[in-house]
Amino acid sequence: MAQFPLPPGSTLGILGGGQLGRMLALAAARLGFDVAVLERDADSPAGRVAAHTIVGPYTDDAALRALAAVASVVTYEFENVPAASVLALKALGVDVAPGPEALAVAQDRVAEKQFLNANGAPTVAFSAASTPEEAVAATLAMGAPVLMKTRREGYDGKGQRWVEHPADAARIFAELGGVPVILEAPADFVRELSIIAARGRDGATAIYPLAENHHENGVLRRSVAPATVTPALADQAERIAMRVLQGLDYVGVVGIELFELRDGQLLVNEIAPRVHNTGHWTQDGCEVDQFEQHIRAVAGWPLGPTEPHARVEMLNLLGDEVDAWAKLAQEPETRIHLYGKRDAKPGRKMGHVNRVKSL
Ligand code: AMP
Repeated sequence: MAQFPLPPGSTLGILGGGQLGRMLALAAARLGFDVAVLERDADSPAGRVAAHTIVGPYTDDAALRALAAVASVVTYEFENVPAASVLALKALGVDVAPGPEALAVAQDRVAEKQFLNANGAPTVAFSAASTPEEAVAATLAMGAPVLMKTRREGYDGKGQRWVEHPADAARIFAELGGVPVILEAPADFVRELSIIAARGRDGATAIYPLAENHHENGVLRRSVAPATVTPALADQAERIAMRVLQGLDYVGVVGIELFELRDGQLLVNEIAPRVHNTGHWTQDGCEVDQFEQHIRAVAGWPLGPTEPHARVEMLNLLGDEVDAWAKLAQEPETRIHLYGKRDAKPGRKMGHVNRVKSL
């Protein structure tokens, strides 16, 4: 096992070669680390800025061995990394952060809500169902409408459907693939917020100000941060973040999505055990951004300050919106972050901009 703090010159492994991996790799390089990316695609956004790319699926034994041979510590850019891959890396003597508990909770929406409620972080009411009959019974018991989501592997609003009538529950269960689901009560929210937080190997914590988020068709469009909130709401969010970090004995950055209800109560929607799209504003709004913070945490370095020094509007560039780069480059208040993806498919996250205003 690696000795912490990991000195510059060490190699850090990242599972996943997308934009989050790319921005993690850039932050790691700035701190003097080499990065090895494990990714199925030989020409990935992260691989193109990393010292090494190991090409293969996350479950490939030879690829995991190759990663373990170069990397002192491994992290990941998305939460659907198979638990077996993490265990295999650990068996090869490589530490993986965030740890397997965080992954297990984030991979299963039922385990996630159970963990949150057990740790004093409130969520909507929910039930689990594994058969069409259970889905109907749960909808009847909870009262429609309910939001049916696959327990595993949903993202950006995929794998979820509203059930307006109990009679529709069996059909929607089948349309979602006949896999285990969670049924959620509707959250009557006035805003969607998120909080990005970090915990170091020494247990120290660092929490960023809240972001206010706007989605379109289930995909994040825009975040504004620091969000305008009362001190009481900020306190509530920080308490939730602390409970998540401590409850998971967490190491790294976590993104926590929140619903703000009409009465000012916050409910947790979900937790992402990684850097998060709603934390991109920190790149141009905070002293140390979420990417460097994550690298600091997994490398056992002290966490950095999270103070905001600007108000930021983060806009995702989806599909061919990225073609506006030349015009965006003329705006003095706009910081451009492009992911180097070759193919601007409709809706694909190609980059983002941070529009910066003084506080
Ligand atoms: P998720 O994939 O769980 O992050 O959900 C995607 C989006 O669906 C959220 O950002 C919300 O806008 C909406 N949503 C998710 N769960 C609920 C819920 N229980 N009630 C109302 N809206 C929800």
